[in-house]
Amino acid sequence: MVPQQPDLWQGPQGKPGGRIFTRVGDLLDFIGLTPDQIPDLDPCPLTFGLKVPSAFAERMRQDPKDPLLRQVLPLGSERQIVAGYSQDPVADRRAERIPGLLVKYAGRALLIVTGACAIHCRYCFRRHLKYPPLWPNLEAIFAVLAADMSLSEVILSGGDPLMLPDDRLAELIARLEQITHLKRLRIHSRLPVVWPERLNDRLAEILLGSRLTAILVIQANHPHELSESVGQALSEWRSLGLTLLNQSVLLRGVNDRVETLAELSERLFACGILPYYLHALDPVAGSAHFAVEETQARCLLSELRARLPGYLVPRWVREQAGASAKQPLG
Ligand SMILES: *Cc1c(COP(=O)(O)O)cnc(C)c1O
Ligand code: SF4
Repeated sequence: MVPQQPDLWQGPQGKPGGRIFTRVGDLLDFIGLTPDQIPDLDPCPLTFGLKVPSAFAERMRQDPKDPLLRQVLPLGSERQIVAGYSQDPVADRRAERIPGLLVKYAGRALLIVTGACAIHCRYCFRRHLKYPPLWPNLEAIFAVLAADMSLSEVILSGGDPLMLPDDRLAELIARLEQITHLKRLRIHSRLPVVWPERLNDRLAEILLGSRLTAILVIQANHPHELSESVGQALSEWRSLGLTLLNQSVLLRGVNDRVETLAELSERLFACGILPYYLHALDPVAGSAHFAVEETQARCLLSELRARLPGYLVPRWVREQAGASAKQPLG
């Protein structure tokens, strides 16, 4: 998202970083489609432009309804104003202790380490939020974390925290380790799926070498996202002993069939990852076309429970502004 920092991770070292599509026409060209095949296409969105690395686009099929394409393709309907859909649906602004530090839930503090992401997901609840760079506030943030003995876990989020280069992450983690009441470090990132080369050896060393127990929470919504190379990179990390979890968002036209959700869970497990949350869509302005009716979602979840072992059924939750935890549904 918007405020790019000068020192963002630029792709795997020693290899070409790959191509990043920022124009709708180029992306469609790449997968062999033409704009007239996509109803309601918005080739020039007013805000939150297209951003898709070729590593992700390679997993799309030549299909106007491809579930990966749908997650990133701007549509005209995003410009409609829909009642109940707002700019900050989960009230992140209210949970901000100081800019860059959110505390909503007991024991856990969330750091917005960068506003940037490797991909722009149209359903993202942060699509309208602009983040000031965290680094100028860092000392103040460490002071708040050190003073609050109730905290045991820090979550690095964003944007995408793995957009930071390894050295910056190492510095940040080293500072967090000095805060003795912290026990766990969680990283919420879509990069392992979007660009699996990000899971390099140095990053694994940093996380495994930390006094804090590291948990990596990735985000995949459809089994096609978990390509061979994503599977390899994540299985390798799993075999190093890192805890890997996945969160998804329930999205109309992407993963709103029981077969898709079941296949996603199976594929995750094969890659060494357990399903964690299946989030109800946050009602963020511009995302209404992704909404799944609650009655349909309830059916999907009960069918999923009937098909899969309990540990492969994600917890279906909704984020409710002001609540003390993500609210279980169903
Ligand atoms: C989602 C979220 C968390 C983590 O919640 P868990 O239920 O522990 O996964 C923490 N802080 C904020 C601000 C969040 O939005
Ligand atoms: S869902 Fe994650 S990766 Fe996608 S735009 Fe939002 S913060 Fe970035």
